[in-house]
Amino acid sequence: LLMAKALISIDYTEDFVADHGKLTAGAPAQAISETINQVTRLAFERGDYIFFTIDAHEENDVFHPESKLFPPHNIIGTSGRNLFGKLAEFYQEHADDSRVFWMDKRHYSAFSGTDLDIRLRERRVDTVILTGTDICVLHTAIDAYNLGYQIEVVKPAVASIWPENHAFALGHFKNTLGAKLVDENLLEITE
Ligand code: ZN
Repeated sequence: LLMAKALISIDYTEDFVADHGKLTAGAPAQAISETINQVTRLAFERGDYIFFTIDAHEENDVFHPESKLFPPHNIIGTSGRNLFGKLAEFYQEHADDSRVFWMDKRHYSAFSGTDLDIRLRERRVDTVILTGTDICVLHTAIDAYNLGYQIEVVKPAVASIWPENHAFALGHFKNTLGAKLVDENLLEITE
């Protein structure tokens, strides 16, 4: 059986990236804008599935654990949920394509409370390629590991607020989750 790959584009939205974003990673996240767009297009053009998994919160959702941890962000109906930069153009151009999906999520992980796992298995996806911001990429990677997926992380298309978190996450992907770190051409980085 031919197995497929899916690029999971996690939370690259205005609230997480723009200067005015409600929970922004700021400059490090803005610095990957061109690469995250290019690598998404490359994956799409070679035939991979593309899943945008995007935080969707309600204002004053006091039962949500994040409400005690972070300021309100990615509120449904606000521009904070718009994809940042040229990635927004990619989505606009391809939103109707049968290989492109938009999935709202409530938790860090793209697998939590969504049907991402089911959709991937239906399409015989065995490898997820992760891009996006901070904590949500890490938690998605851990769930992907526990669900038995091969993991590739696009090193130049992930970003964190703090350099030490970034370094920890890259080490964890590779050494603990067995992930491949890949470059902007989706080729394995061997160091
Ligand atoms: Zn959130």
